[in-house]
Amino acid sequence: MDKKHVLSFLNDAEKYEYTVDTPASELTSFRVGGPVSVVTYPRDKGAFCALLRFLSDNGIKHIVLGCGSNVLAPDEGYDGVFVLTSRIAEILIEDNIMTVGCGRGVTSCASAAQKAGLSGFAFAYGIPGSVGGAIYMNAGAYGSEIKDIIVSAECFDPATGGVIELCKDALSLGYRDSALRRNGMTVLSARFRLAPGDPEAIMAEMADYMSRRREKQPLEFPSAGSVFKRAPGHFTGKLIEDAGLKGTRVGGAEVSEKHAGFIVNRGGATARDIKALIDLVCERVYALYGVRLERELIYI
Ligand SMILES: Cc1cc2nc3c(=O)[nH]c(=O)nc-3n(C[C@H](O)[C@H](O)[C@H](O)COP(=O)(O)OP(=O)(O)OC[C@H]3O[C@@H](n4cnc5c(N)ncnc54)[C@H](O)[C@@H]3O)c2cc1C
Repeated sequence: MDKKHVLSFLNDAEKYEYTVDTPASELTSFRVGGPVSVVTYPRDKGAFCALLRFLSDNGIKHIVLGCGSNVLAPDEGYDGVFVLTSRIAEILIEDNIMTVGCGRGVTSCASAAQKAGLSGFAFAYGIPGSVGGAIYMNAGAYGSEIKDIIVSAECFDPATGGVIELCKDALSLGYRDSALRRNGMTVLSARFRLAPGDPEAIMAEMADYMSRRREKQPLEFPSAGSVFKRAPGHFTGKLIEDAGLKGTRVGGAEVSEKHAGFIVNRGGATARDIKALIDLVCERVYALYGVRLERELIYI
């Protein structure tokens, strides 16, 4: 990548913050990955779109990330641009519609909805991702998912260089899947329809989800949440546990003792360790049960 060319584009402090050669381990929840040539934080949607246009017009390798909580970054580093959305975080609540920038955390959206006496977002409380990442993945928990509340998403379309509003149907949200995984569009902001609710009851619901997370998930170690999708007709964590894989290690990566669906970084794990452990789990589960596990975790 021509770093100078990229840095000269980013040389406008009102529009962009950036760093160079930052380890991806500082930017992802797994705490893994080598240096990223350029990491930038556009400060508003206009700057974000202009940057995406510049990167695609010039064929510069890049990836848009929210909180980096569902990705595995390569050990050898990334000779390209990480575009981080955390500054695109405006939030507006009018009646029962929440309009929110792609970089805002879904946990913060859940809290804002609760304060406004709106129900529907509580399920996302405790998911450590952004609105953009949650739409891309159709994130879900405790029987609800983004699909249940989304009205539309404002997206940047690299094919035209323009901005387009995709309604819920056009987003084709399925189990940990969306049209964004295929059409290459980037979410800029989204609208959610919530319902009036009792703030205290919503608070209690969120607290319940959080305590269930603390009880069941190994939140004390870096991870990217569940590594695998639900296998149809099976509980993936149970299959992995029954295969005797809990606690299995490759280097610093370990199948969590607390929740077999999680792989955790016990210290010094590399992407290579994590991939090798994932392959081992898939092979063992297939050999024992004939079930092919599908990865939810995204390899950069
Ligand atoms: C402890 C823990 C618990 C978790 N629990 C859950 C859970 O209960 N349910 C669940 O579904 N997930 C869970 N996850 C996984 C993860 O938090 C979600 O998938 C989350 O939605 C990812 O959001 P993110 O912003 O971190 O995405 P990132 O990891 O930054 O990116 C993920 C993908 O989304 C794309 N993306 C990011 N932003 C945009 C955008 N603006 N436009 C287009 N594409 C974009 C990226 O390019 C990438 O391909 C958990 C993870 C952890 C670590």
